[in-house]
Amino acid sequence: MQVTFHGVRGSTPCHGEDTQRYGGNTSCVGIRVPGELPLMFDLGTGARYFGVEHSGSQPFRGTCLLSHLHWDHTQGLPFFSPILSAGAELDIYAPQQDDGRSLEQVFEEMICPPMFPLRISQFAGTVRYHELADDDIQIGAMTVRSRLVPHLGPTLGYRLEWKGRSVVYISDHQQPHDGSFTLTEGARELAQGADLLIHDSQYTMSEFPAKNNWGHCTVDYALWLAGECNVRTLALFHHDPSRTDDALDELHRGAVGDSEGEGPTVVAAYEGLTIELP
Ligand SMILES: [Zn+2]
Ligand SMILES: [Zn+2]
Repeated sequence: MQVTFHGVRGSTPCHGEDTQRYGGNTSCVGIRVPGELPLMFDLGTGARYFGVEHSGSQPFRGTCLLSHLHWDHTQGLPFFSPILSAGAELDIYAPQQDDGRSLEQVFEEMICPPMFPLRISQFAGTVRYHELADDDIQIGAMTVRSRLVPHLGPTLGYRLEWKGRSVVYISDHQQPHDGSFTLTEGARELAQGADLLIHDSQYTMSEFPAKNNWGHCTVDYALWLAGECNVRTLALFHHDPSRTDDALDELHRGAVGDSEGEGPTVVAAYEGLTIELP
């Protein structure tokens, strides 16, 4: 199983010399599994690059496991070029909404004139929607577990398993407002014993009190959760758009130092990083 990061930022894309190394696109992680259709976590602006990788002579067929519908996780859909070709098929799995609207309704209302020239239903390819909550499903030979996690609005984390290997994606995760370290049963069911955990790490401990209800967590929380759940490798993800490359290096060094000994291996996700789970 091969995991490639195409967008690693949270909230909004960023650009500039001081964010070049980690990259400025929002959440999108591609998964390649031998013999299976391509899969991605989220449709942030990084989805454009996942699309470049998968534009070929054959119409695209694949899956997106969408964490939730915030812009930083959906805005890349109209720029995911394979879906603009006839015969292409994209299955989007996403959290069931709590306001009675279907996923199709929400997407059609979000991507349409005057915000975008076309509706998704006018794309040459076909987009299908599948609503999930706390579910366990099969996509080809891959087992997918979805669990609702605390954020703002219905939000899922995912655990993908194939031949005994597991990658877990929890991009946006509200830490307890008082800054303490506890986790929901659902989050534990996702992360327990994972080979790779891709996890929200938007804030530092000093930033958190002023933003403690913005839906996110600290690097320290991500590290604690990974240790608590016996995760093998933790990828710090959903970097704050204001975080420079040097600041990310420093956060990463701190996390590596804190996990020394028995903790997980810690990487700070950057665009273009590929992690192999052999
Ligand atoms: Zn986000
Ligand atoms: Zn969000």
